Amino acid sequence: MTAHYRFIAPRLDDPRLLGDRRYSMLIGGASVPALSGETITRESPAHPGHIVSTIPKGSRADAERAIAAARAAFDSGPWPRMTGAERSRIMYRIGESIEANIEELATIEALEVGKAISQARGEMGYSAELWRYAAGQARGLEGETYNDLGTNALGLVLREAAGVVGIITPWNFPLLIGSERIPWAIGAGCTVVIKPSEFTSGSTIRMAELAREAGLPDGVLNVITGYGADVGQIFAEHPDVDAVNFTGSQRVGRVIGSLAGQNIKRVGLELGGKGPQVVFADADLDAAAAKISGGAFHCSGQACIAGSRLIVADSIADKLLEKVEALAAKIVTGDPLNDASNVGALIHHAHFEKVVGYVEEGKADGATIYSGGTRLGEAGAFFAPTIFTGVKPEMSIARDEIFGPVLSTFRFSDPEEAIALANDTPFGLSACVWTNNLSTGLQAIRRIKAGRTWINGMGDGTPQMPIGGYKQSGIGRELGRHGFDEYSELKNIHVTLTDLR
Ligand code: NAD
Repeated sequence: MTAHYRFIAPRLDDPRLLGDRRYSMLIGGASVPALSGETITRESPAHPGHIVSTIPKGSRADAERAIAAARAAFDSGPWPRMTGAERSRIMYRIGESIEANIEELATIEALEVGKAISQARGEMGYSAELWRYAAGQARGLEGETYNDLGTNALGLVLREAAGVVGIITPWNFPLLIGSERIPWAIGAGCTVVIKPSEFTSGSTIRMAELAREAGLPDGVLNVITGYGADVGQIFAEHPDVDAVNFTGSQRVGRVIGSLAGQNIKRVGLELGGKGPQVVFADADLDAAAAKISGGAFHCSGQACIAGSRLIVADSIADKLLEKVEALAAKIVTGDPLNDASNVGALIHHAHFEKVVGYVEEGKADGATIYSGGTRLGEAGAFFAPTIFTGVKPEMSIARDEIFGPVLSTFRFSDPEEAIALANDTPFGLSACVWTNNLSTGLQAIRRIKAGRTWINGMGDGTPQMPIGGYKQSGIGRELGRHGFDEYSELKNIHVTLTDLR
């Protein structure tokens, strides 16, 4: 089946595109270039040839300065010594400031990531919510007491800040992923050095500048920019970093995890996924089709929670595929700066080629292109929403995280087969189940190994609910009350009491 995809060619004379935005790192409250003076430029993936930002190319020496600033702010600065209420007020103001600057931040991400600006605005609004939620929680982080140890003892469990936290983020949702971690780390009383992706550092730098203006003391949030091996890996090695949090690929996650292990350092890893969307025969097919299309093709499939495997009951498969395909055909791909675009470009041309390679491999392996499978436009890194049928579990399009707009379809005839297919992956980040029978939904979800799941939904998020991966999708949880545990140490005080005199 073929569809005519809707495409908006990027406008090369858009005033927001013109002019290279030049950023500095933020170390100890000061905006600074790299010690070497070297820089990295970023070309818009939607507008080939257009440089949209320039960032400092940090080195190990720059990272050491940032770590020293965070260490000093933790060991002797005001932040860890403030009351929860004082920290909370500043954090809330940061959330308000993100909200007030949505347009600027969304524009930066549309240009650097290549994502549709309408999507970027939504992410900035949610990021503000994350800061405000964490601000509320940071007022009342609790420990425990044990008053059942006999007349001459009392047990206290103190929650203490873990110390200096190094955070490494990927390119797809820079400000959102930063906002899922920084407020929880600083809300627990820690100080932070963050290294955003070299492709998309602008919004993180601007957020840190807004935080400084909102009253965050110097050194509490430092931003270091550059390549991962130069300025990120050091977080897992340096003795002055107490905890490292990495979000990104499995490949780099293994490096960070093993270095953190060698150095006995706290580590949080949020890695890739190959999310199943399981549809039972009694599901509301219109509702399911809308979210399946959104879940697979949102951000051109460049989301760790993308629902990239459709596992559908045989009896309704043809009908559902027609609906998903009709909705995919309505997705407007193209100019990230145009309000009418739903989906923008892939992150860069090498990634575009990787996605094309997977599609070719899928065809060569014997799967069938149901729709899509082609480039859109002539120059930018745009790819059509693509649906494969006849996919076998051993094919690379079934197993690997493609991180592109590619949905692989499987059919099942009994529920056990559906669960087995859903779990047939090394990943365990996200999963959806579609059914009108809540027992079926809950029974299925209880059997699927994934940290973030939906029944009759996909992608909805709320700051209260923890996120993170099972299996090779990661270690640890962010958000909610549990998110503070990643950045806290617990200290047990067993107090011996004398008799009352
Ligand atoms: P990546 O692993 O290539 O890069 C992530 C970050 O790590 C970047 O900042 C990069 O500069 C840095 N890095 C690279 N090499 C490093 C090294 N040796 N030491 C330290 N840091 C290093 O990933 P990416 O391409 O930016 O993002 C895509 C991947 O991220 C996908 O696999 C996706 O599933 C995953 N992801 C996961 C989540 C989640 O929450 N689970 C969210 C978004 C993205």
